[in-house]
Amino acid sequence: MSTYESVVHGSKATVKDLPSIDKLLRLPFVQALVSSHGHTLVAAEARAQVDGLRAQALAGVLSMSALAPEALGQSLAGRIAERLAPRLRRVINLTGTVIHTNLGRAVLPQAAIDHLVAMMAGPNNLEYDLVTGSRGDRDSIVEGLLCEITGAEAATVVNNNAAAVLLSLAALGGGREAIVSRGELVEIGGAFRMPDVMASAGAHMVEVGTTNRTHLADYERAITGRTALLLKVHTSNYAVQGFTSSVSEAELAPLAKARGVALVSDLGSGSLIDMGKYGLPQEPTPQQMLAAGCDVVTFSGDKLLGGPQAGLIVGSKESITRIRKFPMKRALRLSKLPLAALEATLQLYLQPELLVDELPTLRWLTRSREQVAANAQALLEPLRAALAPRYTVTPESMLSQIGSGSLPIDRLPSSGLAIAPSLSGKRGMGTALDALSEALRGLPLPVVGRISDDRLLLDCRCIDDPLELLGQLGALRAALIQD
Ligand SMILES: *Cc1c(COP(=O)(O)O)cnc(C)c1O
Repeated sequence: MSTYESVVHGSKATVKDLPSIDKLLRLPFVQALVSSHGHTLVAAEARAQVDGLRAQALAGVLSMSALAPEALGQSLAGRIAERLAPRLRRVINLTGTVIHTNLGRAVLPQAAIDHLVAMMAGPNNLEYDLVTGSRGDRDSIVEGLLCEITGAEAATVVNNNAAAVLLSLAALGGGREAIVSRGELVEIGGAFRMPDVMASAGAHMVEVGTTNRTHLADYERAITGRTALLLKVHTSNYAVQGFTSSVSEAELAPLAKARGVALVSDLGSGSLIDMGKYGLPQEPTPQQMLAAGCDVVTFSGDKLLGGPQAGLIVGSKESITRIRKFPMKRALRLSKLPLAALEATLQLYLQPELLVDELPTLRWLTRSREQVAANAQALLEPLRAALAPRYTVTPESMLSQIGSGSLPIDRLPSSGLAIAPSLSGKRGMGTALDALSEALRGLPLPVVGRISDDRLLLDCRCIDDPLELLGQLGALRAALIQD
């Protein structure tokens, strides 16, 4: 090493060598950062940078080379880029769960994205009647569509289905009794537990039947002068099997009518189409529930419906009017962002022939194993090349899940790639798999798979554009070599 290099690169810096913030901000490269981002952010990051350098200097681990103007400028630019990088990021979902709650549930159809973007770019007639020039009602934007699609007399929308259930129970059953089967006291992820929701709504829960069997007579005996409603809850995320019986909405409706109480059904996912037609497991529809005689049916916008987060409430004019007028509605109302996306999504349901192509959720759910296998095949060789020799990649049949509590026990025949650490690897299996998962999650467009039996599985069902993954294989290889 030459004398010069040992001075510039080898010697340790002390606190006295640190640049002042002012001096740092006057460097030409940093001036350029200031003109792009303004003084506030750049100065704050510069101070944090110098604080970090001071700590390193005091610890005796700061080299002079780190204080060269280019090094300082580059590390400051890096800090700023990191600071401005969004925390909410798009990812590639190769988990095999199509409607994945942790990955944002349903992906919006293009028509919904376009309408959302167009409506958010300026003022809109969210609560303004363009015909009369007077105040309008945001519900009216989708009420007609929802009534047409489900056959309901009236409809309203709120923030999510949890809000729809809470609001319906509070408006129709607050201060009075709500009867529910012990077999339907569900907990959905994220602390949505039916008994707690009832308590929050101010409805007194009256449980009937047992975990596995509830009969019409159980409901009949429990109805008193204090009863406001009967609640049916779709057991979305579990199944009671074996010696079981439950009472359907169609059987409960005549009882509810005769005794003058409301019948409310929380459908959870609530597909608006007959899933059986697409070869998928059947899920009860709001249409069927209304035809069976329910007064109110609630369901999610971002599960099988394939739209934005929203809680949809459809039912009789009388019930929906009470729900809409209930003060809590204002606190739970749907924002204009999902409302725009919901309107465009529902319009697709007026053109059912388009759904399987236009709704990503339905497109992915209806892909055959052979179609998914073609995606896997497109990735196989390039991925093998990128991961050799540390990992071996094999095409494999696997099973996808619908997800989000829809059709919980059904699995869809699928296909994908199974990646295992090569036996020659010196590290443990678990460590090698974790390193790979981490590298995939660390890509510019993160890739999320699932680990099962000491292998990383990449289910290729939800891939529309293999290039999104193929284009990142260089970065993946680099990350694994560095690791
Ligand atoms: C998913 C689900 C909910 C909650 O719906 P969100 O839209 O997530 O608020 C409530 N009830 C049932 C039965 C569900 O499946």
